[in-house]
Amino acid sequence: MGKIAIFPGSFDPFTIGHESIIKRAIPLFDKIIVAIGYNSAKSGYFPLEKREKWIRAIFEEESTVSVATYEGLTAEFCKKVNAKYILRGLRTAADFEYERAIGQMNKMLDQNIETIFMLTKPEHSPISSTIVREVIRHGGDASQFVPKQIDLSK
Ligand code: ADP
Repeated sequence: MGKIAIFPGSFDPFTIGHESIIKRAIPLFDKIIVAIGYNSAKSGYFPLEKREKWIRAIFEEESTVSVATYEGLTAEFCKKVNAKYILRGLRTAADFEYERAIGQMNKMLDQNIETIFMLTKPEHSPISSTIVREVIRHGGDASQFVPKQIDLSK
């Protein structure tokens, strides 16, 4: 079956920081599933369908990268798709503290899961979906922070 990883997140929207982590992880895994987590009680800034469509377009040429959506526990979704690895990006010490707790909790929920962290490239460390949304909300041009396949105006 090979090494299957999921890259979970809200991707609201997907940024060049996310893209960079996935591209660098492609040689490490047989399959990477970009897993968009959602909460049916709380809609995101961009509709789920749009986030999914954008990510599909970005990795159209990458045969080992696929996109899925899930609700609920990430550990449960891993079981469903037979993934043993959770890929996450680390930008700052604050990310580390947050990710440490989630990673350790996921390990307690399922001993088979390993969380793999990749350090962001320095030029991507200030980029977050939250700040990109703020730029958009205030009428700024956020195009430099997202992959070229994403047209934020549509
Ligand atoms: P979440 O809603 O779970 O925080 P995000 O969509 O914000 O999800 O991020 C998904 C993953 O991508 C997380 O591991 C996060 O640390 C990582 N990430 C976010 N922005 C960047 C970036 N600029 N560079 C590298 N990794 C990033």
